[in-house]
Amino acid sequence: MKKNCILLLCLLMFTGCSSGNRAKYIFLFIGDGMGNSHVSAAESYLSYKEGKTGGDRLTFTGFPESGFCTTYSYDHQITGSSAAATAFTTGTKTRNGYLGEDPEGRPLENFTAKLKDSGYKIGIITSVPINNATPAAFYAHDRNRYDYYRITKQLPASGFEFFAGDGFSDFNGKDKKQLNTTDYLEKNGYAVCYGKKEFSDKMKYADKIILCQEADRDSSMSDYEIKREKSDMDLSCLLESGIEFLGDEKPFFIMCEGGEIDWAAHENHTMDVVDAVLRFDKAVQKAYEFYLKHKKETLIIVTADHETGGLTLGFGKTWGYPKLDWGDLETEWEKEGRRDTLDYESNKKLNEENGIGWTTLSHTGAMVPVFSIGKGAERFKGMFDNTDIPAKLLAK
Ligand SMILES: [Zn+2]
Repeated sequence: MKKNCILLLCLLMFTGCSSGNRAKYIFLFIGDGMGNSHVSAAESYLSYKEGKTGGDRLTFTGFPESGFCTTYSYDHQITGSSAAATAFTTGTKTRNGYLGEDPEGRPLENFTAKLKDSGYKIGIITSVPINNATPAAFYAHDRNRYDYYRITKQLPASGFEFFAGDGFSDFNGKDKKQLNTTDYLEKNGYAVCYGKKEFSDKMKYADKIILCQEADRDSSMSDYEIKREKSDMDLSCLLESGIEFLGDEKPFFIMCEGGEIDWAAHENHTMDVVDAVLRFDKAVQKAYEFYLKHKKETLIIVTADHETGGLTLGFGKTWGYPKLDWGDLETEWEKEGRRDTLDYESNKKLNEENGIGWTTLSHTGAMVPVFSIGKGAERFKGMFDNTDIPAKLLAK
């Protein structure tokens, strides 16, 4: 009997301490719509600010491992965000518009649920609404990614410890007659906080928390609305709050999405894209600082769900010696007060005059980059498909 107990104890210690090659702390960054040129544009702009023609690096492009990821969905060569996020979370290709369900509409298990069952705390963070496609694929199952209220109602069942983002779309349901989102989530076990101050108060006693921007209080978020009130917490601040809340005692998985890279690219708004990529990189920097303190136990992956806009640096007419005039674009951007007040035609003209090419107002089928560092990062080098990501993340 005693022998058996010792054996059991050894087994428990072994399984408890050794997660093999799986990192204790996992960060998955998704730059929504962030293709190679979006990354190059941000770096080119950094160099321009330094008076150079190139050579500046974002935090994540300095990571030691890199690769490429194909993004096509079950029914289209060009994916939508919900099908791409479903590939990330379940390893299964599905139809554009589907969320966490297979092409026949059957719910799929998310790897985040598996990680939670094996003792990981889970944090889902985004710069756009928490019930938008990418974050939603980590906790919801729906045939219609735009049925926001039905998606919100699935959030509590996840039991994930931390959510943060720019509020919720369809705050009172599509018909505006449903119980408001704050009350619904609080009734179902979550402390909902608006702004940093409420978060500091509520995090002392809450075991599950949802952090929204102060400006989102009791309001519905619209699609593709980019808000930049100065008082808002940026993505790096949301991530910092998540790391603080989850702590480093237990293992955790954090997904952190730069959602407005895609929104700016849908508008072909070059400087908003640059700004969004730089703010996304600032959040990656926070994870990198965490990595430096927990080098042997941390994995950071930075990738995208698809490319948006068909962005190129160098427009047709300027081929040979493209004139990329960041100064001109920056001036227009500042004149607008960093809000897109330009109509499509004048925006297009501005891009063309400054050597920036866009082929579409939608997504493209281009492969996306993957950058990684830390424990297990070598699994993310080379060329693979977006459906390979969960197995790579869960590998022990
Ligand atoms: Zn999009």
